[in-house]
Amino acid sequence: AKQSGRDNYQFYTPAMNEQALERLRIEGDLRLALERNEFLLHYQPKIDLRSGEIVGMEALIRWQHPELGMVSPVRFISLAEETGLILPIGSWVIRTACEQTKAWQDAGWGKLRVSVNLSVRQFVQKDLVSSIAAVLKDTGLDADLLELELTESLVMTDVEHAIGILRQLKELGVHLSIDDFGTGYSSLSYLKRFPIDVLKIDKSFVRDITLDADDAAITVSIISLAHSLKLHVIAEGVETQEQLSYLRRHGCDEMQGYLFSPPVPAEQFETLLQQKVDL
Ligand code: C2E
Ligand code: CA
Ligand code: CA
Ligand code: CA
Repeated sequence: AKQSGRDNYQFYTPAMNEQALERLRIEGDLRLALERNEFLLHYQPKIDLRSGEIVGMEALIRWQHPELGMVSPVRFISLAEETGLILPIGSWVIRTACEQTKAWQDAGWGKLRVSVNLSVRQFVQKDLVSSIAAVLKDTGLDADLLELELTESLVMTDVEHAIGILRQLKELGVHLSIDDFGTGYSSLSYLKRFPIDVLKIDKSFVRDITLDADDAAITVSIISLAHSLKLHVIAEGVETQEQLSYLRRHGCDEMQGYLFSPPVPAEQFETLLQQKVDL
């Protein structure tokens, strides 16, 4: 190409082959990644906006590929979903996150709640509830300290079925959170029928909260909606002090974002636990 820029829509066969090849390669390697122990979890702290204390963390998967280096989940989660590999990978994530959280509790760090992201394939899997019950039993973690982050599209695909599963999960005692709230196809009338605990305001709203009146209005509405439904509300993607102050002022309960810390490996998370945020 003479010129490459965002206005160029030129696709070349060689490039496409290369892309297809990379995909094939990643898919092949993904199959081996679990047994080769190449996955790890990073943890991003969640901070209580009243006390400034770390009250929990989101577990986010990373893939340490032997040649490609650290591969972002953005590059392999959808592929893992398409191939069904998300089932064993997702089980590994839940088990590892619960083990780590119990280890931190046993080490005296108190009752931190860990959240894990759940994909559609996992959600519709028949033995989801029993497998989570088994992990809690094996690791000894209180059900109360595990939170599942679900997206709106995940629960809206088959509402009646979803409500059934959510009820069983609630009976187990785990917390349920709606991730990326406001970005998906959600229906407010269903919201009250879902036995959920938390709404998570998507980072696309948080980003321009202090610059864009619409994003600010949406955020404030989500906070007030959550509270009137007696739900907790957390904001993700908090990067600036201004965003933090705005969220606090409007009664948001918790936040997570680069302002305090990006997701970090477990050893580094322990260092964070020794700190408290100045609000
Ligand atoms: P998500 O669940 O919405 O996770 C939040 C993403 O925002 C994470 O990206 C996190 O690193 C990033 N982030 C955190 N703070 C900030 C901030 O202040 N600013 C900005 N711009 N970004 C921030 P990450 O780790 O690359 O994960 C991307 C997505 O991959 C996740 O989005 C989630 O949908 C998926 N994912 C990650 N781990 C898992 C997993 O174990 N299972 C499943 N099913 N999906 C996962
Ligand atoms: Ca999430
Ligand atoms: Ca999110
Ligand atoms: Ca997201």
